[in-house]
Amino acid sequence: MRALPASLLAVCGLIASACGGTGTGGAAAGQAASESPALQQQQGSAKEAPPEAEPLDGKVVVIDPGHNGGNARNPAAINRQVDVLTKKKACDTTGTVTPSGYTEAAFTWDVSNRLAKILKGRGATVKLTRNSNDGVGPCITERAAIGNRAKADAAISVHADGAPASARGFHVIIPKKINGPVDKVVGKSDKLGLAVRAAFAKGTGLPYSTYVGSQALSYRNDLGGLNLSTVPKVFIECGNMKNPAEAAKFQDPKFRQRIALALANGLQHYLQA
Ligand SMILES: [Zn+2]
Repeated sequence: MRALPASLLAVCGLIASACGGTGTGGAAAGQAASESPALQQQQGSAKEAPPEAEPLDGKVVVIDPGHNGGNARNPAAINRQVDVLTKKKACDTTGTVTPSGYTEAAFTWDVSNRLAKILKGRGATVKLTRNSNDGVGPCITERAAIGNRAKADAAISVHADGAPASARGFHVIIPKKINGPVDKVVGKSDKLGLAVRAAFAKGTGLPYSTYVGSQALSYRNDLGGLNLSTVPKVFIECGNMKNPAEAAKFQDPKFRQRIALALANGLQHYLQA
């Protein structure tokens, strides 16, 4: 009724039955007239209403930028053995590096911050597992615990691989059941991984890994960051830093933004499903 122009109201008044009105033409016209002040008030209050909700309002995402820029300087701290339930392994590692010296830690730090900015812009609450790229650690056990304490709706650990130079492509690492706390989120993590794989392939144009996993998916039970997670979590290995073509892409800030956007889209797809 509110959108009917005066001329149509006049027609309705003449032929009430054709417009679906049950009353007389005069009553319909009178009702429209009496509604108009209230209608104006509604439109006025609509203008003052708060902005529309963002798509990820209420969602918590934990981003784990793999490694840390200071790890190489502190081998004692980094090599300390920690329990990841299926084995003991080093607290953290230095990560890999491109042939020209761009480190995985710098790459994951940059991509993770870009990703955090995008997700916050879409309404999510975002927490990173480290707050700089010149520190040490934290241990992989703590990286998982940060996601658990935040009760993250989704967590992602960002990495890039150091494989033989001819190897190419990205893959997603998804937890397997280990008769441990991660078991209850293995199913959700799988869904998250599939969403991230699809968005990453589409957004970056990088191929599925030529050297690990199947169809860019690798299911593992030896990673502390996954074994100890009680929230849905995956790792993304964005590609091979030892491959010259992929290294060049990773060293390009514009490409890192593409990676971040792709990851944000994958996370959002999962979180809104
Ligand atoms: Zn790594």
